Amino acid sequence: MQVQGGRVADYIPELAKADPADFGIAIATVDGRVYEAGTTRKTFTIQSISKPLVYGVALEDQGLDRVRQVVGVEPSGEAFNSISLEPGTGRPLNPMINAGAIATSSLVAGATRQDRLARVTGAMSAYAGRPLAIDEAVFESERSTGHRNRAIGHLLRNYDILSEDPEAALELYFRQCSVLVECRDLALVAATLANGGINPVTRQRAVKADCVAQILSVMATCGVYDFTGEWIYRVGLPAKSGVGGGIMAVLPGQLGIAVFSPALDERGNSVRGVKACEAISRDLGLHFLQPPRASVSTLRARYTLRDFEVGRLRRRARSQLRALKGRQQQLARALHIAQRLLHHGGGLPHRCHGLIQLRLQGRHPRQRSHLTRRIVRLLMQCHQPLQRRHVVGTKCQSLLQRGFGASKVLQL
Ligand code: GLN
Repeated sequence: MQVQGGRVADYIPELAKADPADFGIAIATVDGRVYEAGTTRKTFTIQSISKPLVYGVALEDQGLDRVRQVVGVEPSGEAFNSISLEPGTGRPLNPMINAGAIATSSLVAGATRQDRLARVTGAMSAYAGRPLAIDEAVFESERSTGHRNRAIGHLLRNYDILSEDPEAALELYFRQCSVLVECRDLALVAATLANGGINPVTRQRAVKADCVAQILSVMATCGVYDFTGEWIYRVGLPAKSGVGGGIMAVLPGQLGIAVFSPALDERGNSVRGVKACEAISRDLGLHFLQPPRASVSTLRARYTLRDFEVGRLRRRARSQLRALKGRQQQLARALHIAQRLLHHGGGLPHRCHGLIQLRLQGRHPRQRSHLTRRIVRLLMQCHQPLQRRHVVGTKCQSLLQRGFGASKVLQL
């Protein structure tokens, strides 16, 4: 992607060291597949992407009513570090801006600071599916230079939104921002939210299912600060960005996307992150407000084994099929023919952009799933006429019903 521009965060020296050339994209599906390109295995601090995760912890620990007393759900339309408090009550407008996130951190349960930190890092690790560590240098810098956040903390204390010394909530907030993640981790965090709170690889629950809709709601309305309206219009996915250069987006029920690129725009969102999510959403038709296409109308082509038997291969296949006796052999042959055709691009028209359905005749469920797996593996290897990204999985009917960009789905 030829996108330049933006500047890495430089409010603390550790972030100023980030390489603006880094660029990684990872997509994780709810069935546990992870697709990665570029810088997806380099760690960076999660920063504000921790906010929706800690909001989930607060919802679990205190319940919806208590959380709503402390932090609202209205977009502020202002910068992430704005002092957007409700007139009168002092309640921060939403949990995605710093004021709301600091208030949220104060709601994490635990007898000691260590317990509360362990609660937060434990939850974040469950989302990522591996133990996450804190960058102590970033934490120290955040803590020693975070005067504006500290001022916000004291204002919240003044309004009794924080009921204790603001330092405790601030320390937890600075620490949660300093958790180290890779782009791949973030894709799994997003996929965990897409999957109702269960990490699709480890199968471990990171957050209660009934908190997920609340978390995604505040991401959808406030996740990229004063760019959220534009973001939802263009990308159409609940999302969260951080000044470490990460951005994650969630398509509920289907997948999570993460982009890492540390050069930020003036709002603190990754420049390439925004562009990449926009392109992915457009190419794969992921906008969550786009009404799902009916599966019947998306079916552009339907192939049976008969259709595979074209030209030279058809003649050969026919005689071979005639010679075959058992159903088992027929299926094995079907696979072979499909393989040949896919390698030669013979049976599938090059310009077929629609849903392609391969029907395996005479299929026994077990044989069919075995064949399906083999064909999918095969398709993943071949470039023509299908590209790797077109092959999403085998549970296509359900993906279709849920409105997945059906024109890019291969149904087996
Ligand atoms: N640590 C940063 C702050 O509190 C996080 C902000 C962000 O990622 N937008 O200012």
